Amino acid sequence: MVPPRPLHPGGAGGDGAPLDGGATRRPGAAVSRGRGEGRRVDDDRDASGALAAPRRGRLPAGARSSRGGIVDRLKIAVPVKGRLREPSVSLLEDAGLGPEQPGERALAFPCRNAPVDVLLVHAADIPEYVQDGVVDCGITGQDLVRERGTRVEELLPLGYGSCRLDVAVPEESRFARIEDLAGASVATVFPRLTRELMPVPVELVDITSSVEIAPRLGLADAIVDLVSSGNTLRTNGLRSLGTLFTSEAVLIGREGADIGQLVTMMRAVVEARAHRYLMLDAPEDRLEEICAVIGSRSPSVLPLAEKGMVAVHALVPAEDVWQLLPRLEEVGAFSILIVPVERMLR
Ligand code: AMP
Repeated sequence: MVPPRPLHPGGAGGDGAPLDGGATRRPGAAVSRGRGEGRRVDDDRDASGALAAPRRGRLPAGARSSRGGIVDRLKIAVPVKGRLREPSVSLLEDAGLGPEQPGERALAFPCRNAPVDVLLVHAADIPEYVQDGVVDCGITGQDLVRERGTRVEELLPLGYGSCRLDVAVPEESRFARIEDLAGASVATVFPRLTRELMPVPVELVDITSSVEIAPRLGLADAIVDLVSSGNTLRTNGLRSLGTLFTSEAVLIGREGADIGQLVTMMRAVVEARAHRYLMLDAPEDRLEEICAVIGSRSPSVLPLAEKGMVAVHALVPAEDVWQLLPRLEEVGAFSILIVPVERMLR
């Protein structure tokens, strides 16, 4: 199988088209973005939606997904590098979609056990590849789906790649709330989301990387950027004024794509990872208290050989285990086992 050719080597807009219609200022740019000659708009005539449009419906025939064609194999795009790569590849493995050849390092490979081909591409390109039918589905960040302005279906949040799109200013800045930034300059690599979600009008400074140092370089009063722990902000002498958007990795599909089985396989893994199987023994007369601690009204209860004793089995949220164990001991549970769940379908 041949991986899809990169369709826009020049970057987000492909043809160098301005990507927004607002008051965006690029450092050093003579013309505000969206105001230059030859500015493109997509077919709804809205320049602010021109990110994904230029390629729509103009794919080389060979780039189209095979679904609906002669070969009935499913194509899924997965991030080739960055934070989402490893957890995405491991999710595929856990869902039984590991490469046919173990240790496969090619950018496109068939999966063992299922008629699925995996394509490793840039996370930021995946929403567009899915929208345009280059692949049937893909894994990327919700932030990238929204920023690219693509029409795709978000089928399943995947439980990793969690981050926030925060507004931040230098520690010593006079700004205390996001609303105080009305009219201020804001540097970001997320111009669309920033324009969409800022509650007050701001002047956008569109940069492509190292957003955190923009205020120190005098490029902007504030930044809008992805944050997970907040350490990078602190290291760069910035403080958060609040969150515009929260994001995690997501499985996306082309509108109407027939990928129900893949979604089910992945959901079974995502749900399983979020739970643990709890087994314990307890005196039967403590059952009510144990159920109250577990938060389940109908766990499996099995009589033990010893009279008056029972075993209790239940699924519990993985994040609750830490506080469950001491409380279960307090109400008389013993021989407690917590085991991982491999697949789970409710
Ligand atoms: P990367 O390829 O590593 O730049 O990140 C791609 C995606 O990872 C982002 O678009 C987010 O969806 C996700 N992500 C999760 N945590 C962070 C973070 N702290 N900073 C940037 N991206 C993050």
